[in-house]
This record gives sequence, C-alpha cells and structure tokens, in this order.
Amino acid sequence: MEKVLTVCPYCGSGCKLNLLVEQGKVVGAEAADGVTNQGTLCLKGYYGWDFLNDTRLLTPRLKQPMIRRQRGGPFENVDWDEAIQFVSTRLAEIKQQHGAEAIMVTGSSRGPGNETNYVMQKFVRAALGSNNIDCCARVCHGPSVAGLQVTLGNGAMSNSIGDIENSDCLLIFGYNAADSHPIVARRILKAKQNGAKIIVCDPRYIETARLADLWLPLNNGSNMALVNSFANVLIEEGLYQHQYVAQHTEGFTEYRQTVSRYTPEYVAAITGLTPAQIREAMQIYAGAKNATILWGMGVTQWGQGVDVVKGLSGLALLTGNLGRPAVGVGPVRGQNNVQGACDMGALPNTFPGYQSVTDSAARSKFAQAWGVKKLSGKIGCAITEVPHRVMEGKLKAYYIMGEDPLQTEPDLSLMRQAFEKLELVVVQDIFMTKTAAMADVILPATSWGEHEGVYTSADRGFQRFAKAVEPDGNVLPDWQIISRISTAMGYPMHYRNTQEIWDELRGLCPLYAGVTYEKMAGLGYVQWPCPDEAHPGTPYLYKDNIFSRPGGKGLLFACEWRPPQEQTDAQYPLVLCTVREVGHYSCRSMTGNCSALQTLADEPGYVQINDTDAAALGIKDNQLVWISSRRGKVISRAQVSGRTNRGAVYMTYQWWIGACNELTLDHLDPIAKTPEYKHCAVKLEAI
Ligand code: SF4
Repeated sequence: MEKVLTVCPYCGSGCKLNLLVEQGKVVGAEAADGVTNQGTLCLKGYYGWDFLNDTRLLTPRLKQPMIRRQRGGPFENVDWDEAIQFVSTRLAEIKQQHGAEAIMVTGSSRGPGNETNYVMQKFVRAALGSNNIDCCARVCHGPSVAGLQVTLGNGAMSNSIGDIENSDCLLIFGYNAADSHPIVARRILKAKQNGAKIIVCDPRYIETARLADLWLPLNNGSNMALVNSFANVLIEEGLYQHQYVAQHTEGFTEYRQTVSRYTPEYVAAITGLTPAQIREAMQIYAGAKNATILWGMGVTQWGQGVDVVKGLSGLALLTGNLGRPAVGVGPVRGQNNVQGACDMGALPNTFPGYQSVTDSAARSKFAQAWGVKKLSGKIGCAITEVPHRVMEGKLKAYYIMGEDPLQTEPDLSLMRQAFEKLELVVVQDIFMTKTAAMADVILPATSWGEHEGVYTSADRGFQRFAKAVEPDGNVLPDWQIISRISTAMGYPMHYRNTQEIWDELRGLCPLYAGVTYEKMAGLGYVQWPCPDEAHPGTPYLYKDNIFSRPGGKGLLFACEWRPPQEQTDAQYPLVLCTVREVGHYSCRSMTGNCSALQTLADEPGYVQINDTDAAALGIKDNQLVWISSRRGKVISRAQVSGRTNRGAVYMTYQWWIGACNELTLDHLDPIAKTPEYKHCAVKLEAI
C-alpha cells in the first residue's frame, strides 16, 4: 500500500493527511502530522475520499467533454479539440459583439488549487480583457477581507490556527467551529483546557457555547449593536489600553462618538442581552493578558458584514490584542482554498497578491509580465451581481469553474431566470452539479487526488497537495483546460507543470516571493508574507504593531447598527438563518458522493426549530414540514430542540430537496456584495 501525503480538500483548517492507495485506488485516509492538525482529522478528512472511486451516491462524475447544441436538448459527447474550439469561438463572438465585460468567469475555492486560480484570472485579464472574475469568498468571508483591509491593512487572519490554544481568552462571534472547522474546535477546547476564558456570541446553544464561560445568546440581526456596545463598555468603563490607542491607532475621536450611545442599557432591547452580560464579556476580554477574536459567517453573511468586521477589529485595537503571539483577529475562512483563490487574484478588484487593479503601477507590472499592451483598471463584476447584470442584458456568458451557483447563491429562482437568459454557460467541474445540468458546455476536470498544486489554509499557510491516483475518463487538469482555451483565443499559455505557474506568480507577488515548492515539500507550511527565500513565513501579522496601512497605524472605525433588510410579520413570522453541518461540505457534490458521509446525513435535510415554537405549530421532531418565504417553498424535516432560539429556524444549504436558497434573499452588503443569508422571513407548516 502506498501513502500519499496531501491536504484535506474540505474546510480551511488545512489538515494534512495520507491517502492510502492500493492498485491505483484510494482505499483509506489517515491523519498526518500537519502544522494545523497535528495527527488528527475530522469525519470529512477520514471519510471524504471515496468519491474518487465513483460511488455515484448523488451524481455521476463528469468524464467526457460535452456540448448541448440547443437549450433543453441532450448533451453530446465531443473530443477535447471540439470542446475547446466551441468555447473559444463562442467567447470570442460574444466579446466581439458585446465587449469583454459581457463575459463572467469564476475561480474556484475548492479542489483546483492556487496555480489554477492564477491561470484563470490571467486568462480573464490578459486574454478576455476585463476583471470579471470572482470566487465564493464573495458569499462567505468577503466582508472580512474588506473590513480588515480598511482597519488593519490585510484581509486575512492575523493569527495562526495552531496558536489559538495559547490565548488566555477567546471571543467567538457568529462562529460554529464544531460544525464548520472541527480541527479549529479542537484548538478551542485545548485553549479551554489550558485555562482560557471562552465567550461565545451566538443565538443558538452551539457546541462551543457548551464549554463557554459566558454565552451571549444575542437576537438574530443585532451583531452591530452588540459590537458597538462592547466598544462602549471598553471606552466608557476605562477598560481599553490608552497608550496603545494613542500610539498605534487613528480615528479614536469619531469612533468614540459613534459608539457613545450604544450603552449596554440602550442595546438591551435590540440584542436581547442584559447590560450585565455585555459588561461581563468585556471585563473578561479586556482583562485577559492575550485575547483572540474568532468569527465565522454569523458575522459576514449580512447586509452589514463589513461594518461588523471593522467593529471586531476595533475591539482588538482598543485592547492592544494584535501584533504578538496568542492574540489577534481570526476570520476563519470556509472552503479549503478560499483564502488561496483570493490570494491568487480570483477577485474583481485585485491582481494576485492583493495588488489593486485600480493602481496603474500594478497594471503596468502585470501587463509587462503577461505580454499585453494594457490591462483593465475597471473593477469587475461580483458573482452576486451576476443575476441582475444578466437581467439587465449586460452579461451574456458565464464560465463557471468548480462552483455550483444554482445551489449556493441566494434566491435561486432569480438565479435560474438569469441562467435561462444567458447565451453561453460553460461549466468546468468534476460532478454533474445542478449548475452543470443547465450548462451549454461541460468541461470535465481532474479532481483533488488526481492532480497536484498548492492550497492556502485559513491562516495564510501555503501547503502542497499531491496527486494520488490516475483519473478515470477523458478529463484534464483545470489549468490545462484554461490554457488551451486561452491559446485558441489567441493568447498562448504553454505551462508544462504547476511549479512553472507557481514560480511565475510568486515572481509577481512580493507577499509570496519566498514561498518555493521546496519549502513546502513534505509537511512544509509557509504563511504569507514571505518576501524572500531566506524568510520562514509569518505566523502572526503586524509585528511591533506596525499595520499594513499607509502610516502604519490601525484604524478605529465604527458604524451605526442597521436592522436586517427583511423583517418578520404575521404571514412570515420566523427568521430563517442558513448554517453549516459537520458531515457535508459546501454544495455537497464531493461529500454527497462519499458513502460514509452520506450515511450520516441524507435528503431532505432538516430545519432546526425551537421546541416551544414547534409545539405551538403542532410540529414534532423528525416530521416533514413546508418552509415558505416570499421567494419560494421547500420541504424539509423538523429537528426540534431547546438549543435553537425562539423565533428563528436554521437550515444548511447543501440539500437538493429542501434547498434553503429557494427561500433566501439577495440583499447584499453594499461594500463586500455578500448576501444576507442569515436573515429572511419564513413560515413553517406541518405536513
Ligand atoms: Fe481538517 Fe477541515 Fe478536512 Fe476536517 S474538513 S479534516 S477540519 S481540513
């Protein structure tokens, strides 16, 4: 049996594992001693590989390029030459007729890896001529990137996953680590065992709340009011670090003015918390020698996500909890390579390495390196803007790599209307997802386990992942497919391997210049910034409290609380909040095709509801129910529990039957363009 050392393809924890290979088939997985996981894995790491053996529990693997010549007609198998010719010709025609901005492209935050994302954004920028590329960071931690870039200068975790357990206090806000990042949850547990105080802000009594010293069950939609009240307590009760604020921050006067009216008494009615709870939380946080804030999509998937991120960053600045080990701000990114897709410039506003497309010097540098006369300085389209731009007639083609927007985007009926109106849909993927089923062209790619490259974990750590088995079928690595399309469109790309791509991109990105394949060999783990080959990487950002902003100071920036967009009423009296579950990942295309994980949880999913609310509606545990919003109606199974707060219900987004995004709302954060997945009005009816 051969052991192939690689990285887990699911969450952003970056766990290292060995795939066990026998006669060309993966037969098991075991934990490796990675920097973040130290010899342990969660369920998905142990059992999330057998889709490679084509178990077909949910959907078939894509094994052959296919074209659908007429909408609604059957797919026809074609060879690669014909598929490449078809896509390149249609894209060229659409560009010719409607301009480069009529084409939208996605990167992928999942299996393909950093090199592929680099090649894809280069194709969009150098070959197509726009910045219309985005990735699923838009629908998860986009607000963390935007908020932290403004206040601290970098949009990523300032700390390391491995250092969480060394903190004396963890303030965990809108983050259910036990379900979304089980290995991070283990670090939280270790911190508790080491004596850390744990504060959990979450409406539900989640797993982490069970070990918390203080659980703040705030009302759904009150994040900004609570964060402002935290700041109010720190300032007005003299708990903040005066000298640190004077030396290392700016904006204090305006900040203090904004938070001054958010007294614990004022926000009690908004948050549902007592003033004593809010004060106690800040006494613990400010009293800790080293305190860390962790957050998840309970903070970001709101119409006000960026504002709340700025607020959380402000708490760390007020208390001097940045710039040294065991402290910091940690937006724990969701998918295994969502940090990497952003790092590689699969975003509409930045080139690789967070170099802005609006910066003429950056444009000149990339244009020269890529051998084109000029590059667009216009910020491109966000994936959440796609349906509206299509309906307005501005977008005509959508090339989707490794994403399933017809499962994962909000308000799916609107998304389906947009897809019907598109002139060309190209899907490059490994499974016949819901989106692939509506495509005009299918480009079948190799999967994680069948190709190699580099992923970035949530704490900025670059790691190499490996090929374990030969793919079955007429499939190609994603970067080769893109290169062939680009070449056919007159912009030649002739990379021979992923290392060649990696070396090109690190030569263009000062943040990653010193991250070589050799450094990442084996269990190697290099966190950016890593400016030269002698540099070991950076476990924590802002050493000596020098922030990556002009002038080097952190910015205190407070925003007023705004209520969620859609309120409950007599017809739709409950709040729907979308959440994660531990057994499946993202749109479930991979985990849904793993037999052990499928056994744990299967269609039609579930809707969590409070036991008192359920009794009032005559709903029993495990009973089938209808859930309706102003946008749609789905069936699911009730999961009745006292751990869910009254007035709200919770659903995960991966189910085909019981797809909660039939119900959600596409209200967007005005800056990050991230949808308000966490709050829409619904009703439940027993069946
Ligand atoms: Fe680790 Fe996340 Fe994979 Fe689980 S899903 S093994 S926590 S990387």
